Amino acid sequence: MNEAERREYLQAMGIHYWIPRSALDADAATSGGAEQEAVPPAAPPVPVAAPKPDMTVARQRPAPDEPPPWLDEVPPPSNEYLPTLDHAEHIGELGTTGLLDDGVSQLDWPALTARVAQCQACELHKTRTQTVFGVGRQNADLMIIGEAPGADEDRKGEPFVGRAGQLLNAMLKAIGLQREQVYIANILKCRPPGNRDPRAEEALKCAPYLQRQVALLKPRAILAVGAVAARNLLQSDDAVGRLRGGQHEYNGIPVVVTYHPAYLLRSPEQKAKAWQDLQKAARLIQ
Ligand code: URA
Repeated sequence: MNEAERREYLQAMGIHYWIPRSALDADAATSGGAEQEAVPPAAPPVPVAAPKPDMTVARQRPAPDEPPPWLDEVPPPSNEYLPTLDHAEHIGELGTTGLLDDGVSQLDWPALTARVAQCQACELHKTRTQTVFGVGRQNADLMIIGEAPGADEDRKGEPFVGRAGQLLNAMLKAIGLQREQVYIANILKCRPPGNRDPRAEEALKCAPYLQRQVALLKPRAILAVGAVAARNLLQSDDAVGRLRGGQHEYNGIPVVVTYHPAYLLRSPEQKAKAWQDLQKAARLIQ
């Protein structure tokens, strides 16, 4: 991917990149010249919208003592996404051990799809419109695992089709992948009413389906988006902030943990970290 394309993708994802002030000064003086990407410099960085830097930003720079203008744009931290205590207490029951398999581990893709569609293993079948099995290439190198269907997904029968899904698509594009090139699934196949957190027993009942999807797919890497996905896959009760950056595996497949796109919509200041995670996932499937 060339530099211009990469910047376009980063812009689609809503990620700012930085260029050193010295480069801006040089550019402003010569009214042109190639921008130079760099890790944020020691001096307060100036955000520049990709793909073309707006030189008025350079001209309107605050005096050195003033905070950079983008600081005000950062919304307050949100804790809406933290799992309920109930979920955290049951986390030890989740994961890949001791699951009620019921033959699921022997099913092929069509049989697994049919089994999920008629599943009544937990109460969620009573309130769902339809199951949300998963979507994408059945030989994808990268598998994305989210939490559970929301209202849009329940209606369409496809994971990540709402606003969070649009951001997920942009995140994938940032590493040069189309949505169709990966496989996307969730910890739960049915929507929890009111989008509440999945309950431990629901995740436990649903786990064999996901486990079989992973076994059939054999992805080279899994990207676990959000706390529910990460905690269930890794049988951990750590926060995403602690899990991301670590080395993890699910049934022998490397797992990269990152923030959920819905959380990133509320906390865009975390997108830079998500970008690091995405790059790590991209390296694993290279
Ligand atoms: N959030 C998820 O975790 N999964 C979806 O499918 C949609 C939103």
